[in-house]
Amino acid sequence: MLEDKNQERTSLSSMGEFGLIDHLTKDIEINQPSTLKGIGDDAAVLDFKDKRTVISTDMLVEGVHFDLAYMPLKHLGYKAVVVNLSDICAMNAKPTQITVSIAVSNRFPLEALEELYSGIRHAAKVYDVDIVGGDTTSSQKGLIISITAIGEAEEADITYRVGATDTDLLVVSGDVGAAYMGLQVLDREKEVFKVNPNNQPDLEAYDYLIERQLKPEARKDVKELLKALEIQPTAMIDISDGLSSEILHLCKQSNVGCNLYEDKIPLDPQLINVCEEFNIDITTVALNGGEDYELLFTIKMEDFEKIKANPNFSIIGHMTQESEGAHLITRANTKIALKARGWNAINDEE
Ligand code: ADP
Ligand code: MG
Repeated sequence: MLEDKNQERTSLSSMGEFGLIDHLTKDIEINQPSTLKGIGDDAAVLDFKDKRTVISTDMLVEGVHFDLAYMPLKHLGYKAVVVNLSDICAMNAKPTQITVSIAVSNRFPLEALEELYSGIRHAAKVYDVDIVGGDTTSSQKGLIISITAIGEAEEADITYRVGATDTDLLVVSGDVGAAYMGLQVLDREKEVFKVNPNNQPDLEAYDYLIERQLKPEARKDVKELLKALEIQPTAMIDISDGLSSEILHLCKQSNVGCNLYEDKIPLDPQLINVCEEFNIDITTVALNGGEDYELLFTIKMEDFEKIKANPNFSIIGHMTQESEGAHLITRANTKIALKARGWNAINDEE
């Protein structure tokens, strides 16, 4: 659980709830002008003036959403923040504050929570958000983390899942599928380790995939990139469950159909190699893998020239009339209906 196995283990019961909160939250800085009061009172006080406020919450449960066998606590803290910030970014808003709530069993020493918090605080620093509150309580078993992210945006900039029209282009940031295969590589190493604990794995060939799994990033830059290109997205969602499932959300909520082109889906070279090695279909991974935390959005057809050569974005398809449905157009030019199978779909198929 702890990165350094020889580290001290201070029991949480010796600290008391208030001692623990003080210890974890001491010298947390406030940097956002919209934070009037952070940690320390009954509630935080924020002021967004004439901007809109966006709020999103996610909960992560040990054994359901993460496995501490291969997720260092520091990474877990970082990831817990990032996945929430990603939801704020997916509204085309700017994240500004978070609150952090944790429930822990006494299996965890103070040092474990310090590691978790170092990841949380690092993410808050990287993304320039203030930690303005939270709650701390005990659990019977395991660790639960719930983070609420708050952000701001001009009303005109906020982008919903509703808003795509049947002539819009479909665009994705970055590349997809890598986080899922990162998990597969880690799973395989865990099995190898069980058989031979002295085996030192050489994971260099998989570093990008593993990083995408253990240390995902939210695309806070996309809002700025689109502003600079003078593009207002018409609908937007972040990719947590998988490209296919997110496309279907956009289609359903915007009442449109879609043609997604297999040959346009952005794939990292490491992903191509590892899919060959694992003998797994790369398009299945790209469509259903999930946890990429890239942004998927639609833009007006007339914005094509502005975005077509931009290395941050790939135009992967176009929307259609709702009656046409949502399809993948394969490299062989066949048309396959997109299905929302999500996160566990690849394993279910076997
Ligand atoms: P209350 O009794 O009103 O719930 P607490 O004693 O739980 O207050 O919390 C005291 C202060 O510490 C509050 O500002 C709260 O938001 C903050 N806080 C509590 N737990 C955490 C945590 N895990 N991370 C960050 N802030 C926390
Ligand atoms: Mg409380």
